[in-house]
Amino acid sequence: MRILLVEDEPELAAATAARLTGEGFVVDHFGSLGEAIEAAMAAEYRAVLLDRRLPDGDGLSLLPVLRTRAAVPPVILLTALDQIPDRVAGLDAGAEDYLIKPYAFQELLARLRVLLRRSGAGSGASPPGVRIGRLEYDLAAREPRIGGTAVALPRRELAILDALMRRAGRVVMRESLEAQVYGFDDEISSNALEAHISRLRKRLSEAGAGVILHGVRGVGYMLRAS
Ligand code: CA
Repeated sequence: MRILLVEDEPELAAATAARLTGEGFVVDHFGSLGEAIEAAMAAEYRAVLLDRRLPDGDGLSLLPVLRTRAAVPPVILLTALDQIPDRVAGLDAGAEDYLIKPYAFQELLARLRVLLRRSGAGSGASPPGVRIGRLEYDLAAREPRIGGTAVALPRRELAILDALMRRAGRVVMRESLEAQVYGFDDEISSNALEAHISRLRKRLSEAGAGVILHGVRGVGYMLRAS
């Protein structure tokens, strides 16, 4: 699940990005409004964490850009501006939520989960849980289970499974999978995705998931019941 983090304080940004990555998110971090706008136009994000005071402008200027996207990601403002008019301006401009700095990471994570759950349910595209074969997947918690038992997956494999379960029964384009699995800063070797797919396939098979991770040559991948 790919997240855009816009924050110009290097230490805060690094700490937040590291912890989100540890939770299984793919994080693209930018420290300026200009870079964030470019990223928002180039990639599809599930959520945006947005600082307001950026070196080249107010973070709120990113919101109209996000609204031009096919899937508009929910935004949490991360702001030191704790006065009521500033909060109201942020929410009026279309942000879903805000956190006042300094914030506790656990609170950020909790609010992010709420937004992701809400946006998943609101889109009408996917139910909160998906089942294929014996594999169940909770879209909000991003937790796979087989026969009721949680399955721990390395984060890139989880990102692949997440993308496939969200489009259960349909082919997910290879480019779309790569966009969900890798951030802008990751070096992608030509067969890296295949290596992750192959490990995920083996893991699901060994765990008795009852699914086939099917490759469609030249197009992408899909999951179906075996
Ligand atoms: Ca700032």
